[in-house]
Amino acid sequence: MTAAGPTSAPVGRTLVKGASILGGPARDLLIADGIFAAVGADAAAGADANTETIDASGLVALPGLVDLHVHLREPGREDAETVASGSAAAAVGGFTAVHAMANTDPVADTAGVVEQVWHLGRSTGLCDVHPVGAVTVGLDGRELAELGAMAESAARVRMFSDDGKCVSDAVLMRRALEYVKAFDGVVAQHAQEPRLTEGAQMNEGSVSGVLGLGGWPAVAEESVIARDVLLAGHVGSRLHVCHVSTAGSVEILRWAKGKGIDVTAEVTPHHLLLTDDLVSSYDPRYKVNPPLRTQSYVDALRQGLADGTIDAVATDHAPHSLEDKDCEWAAAAMGMVGLETAVGVVASAMVETGLLDWAGVADRMAVRPARIGRLAGQGRPIAPGEPANLVLIDDKSRYTVDPAAMLSRSRNTPYAGIELPARPVATFLRGRLTAREGSVLA
Ligand SMILES: [Zn+2]
Repeated sequence: MTAAGPTSAPVGRTLVKGASILGGPARDLLIADGIFAAVGADAAAGADANTETIDASGLVALPGLVDLHVHLREPGREDAETVASGSAAAAVGGFTAVHAMANTDPVADTAGVVEQVWHLGRSTGLCDVHPVGAVTVGLDGRELAELGAMAESAARVRMFSDDGKCVSDAVLMRRALEYVKAFDGVVAQHAQEPRLTEGAQMNEGSVSGVLGLGGWPAVAEESVIARDVLLAGHVGSRLHVCHVSTAGSVEILRWAKGKGIDVTAEVTPHHLLLTDDLVSSYDPRYKVNPPLRTQSYVDALRQGLADGTIDAVATDHAPHSLEDKDCEWAAAAMGMVGLETAVGVVASAMVETGLLDWAGVADRMAVRPARIGRLAGQGRPIAPGEPANLVLIDDKSRYTVDPAAMLSRSRNTPYAGIELPARPVATFLRGRLTAREGSVLA
């Protein structure tokens, strides 16, 4: 938080007029010194000649969004994304905090690398960048990484994941779960049984049969989640399941939560909207890990998110350069960019369908992810005295996704030319405007 300057003039006061907080009635918000100084009738009275006023009438106000799962590609693949370009994409997408996955080059498996990413995030200053530490050295699945050193580093890592790869060795998974208890950490599993998915190119089902592409069975995900919730229960530790994609996974999570096991889970926007028949186009933009599934799985994931069995939406923003993505299906890298379209896709899948209201979106995209990541200053209520992390969303008009206008360095979006509802129009990080109308403010 910025200290007050030598004069008594208020620093960076903003009056946000007429915002609909969590979709409720219009109210004014006064932001001063990085916090919400007043909300409601008192707010306008605290404004003065130096206060910037933003007309938010007709806009929905949510706490700044928190993403548990992004790939920022730095260090190592700065051609695809950097911490700075990914932070810009996050800010225009309405995010004030992101968790950057460890599958960089070098891998984020030491205090040195996580501190490097953390410092890059701080110097960019567009959103809080929390590095995720690798569970195993080099993501090789053989030896535990220095979890304690990463937790004690300046980056204060609390989430650990080999994402991109599954920690398939049950003994290593057990040890990781035991280890993170010491600092209230969480192990985030990419649930993919490796032997069951050798050569897999898409969801195993009728479409893969017709196309002759290697199938990726639901059981490859579900069997790992079943094992891991039992392990987490056995050692009394915290498990988070990345990008849940099947109906069976939702059922296992529901069972585990009913047993009191400390498990949380996320779903991506694309798994809430897209299905595997899109793969019939052989367009690699639809190639993603885990794969797009069937409509009945999409329905189960929406239901799981609506009833809270799935705690959070996480984008799995996975930028890829043109040469890695714009090639034949079998050779193309897996993944989609997602930070700049997340709000629109979630609104389309969950709000327009009546499954979640805006308060529910705030819970699944800010409150719960902040809690899972143990981020004390994020996902807080829009209330006096709280950090002014805020996104204003225009839910009255629709917009067409234009990849050329994106701030990510990569363009591998499956939504090019698609019309989406609900566009983030302004984002504030601790009272400072970081993005407005699709552009970032340095
Ligand atoms: Zn993953």
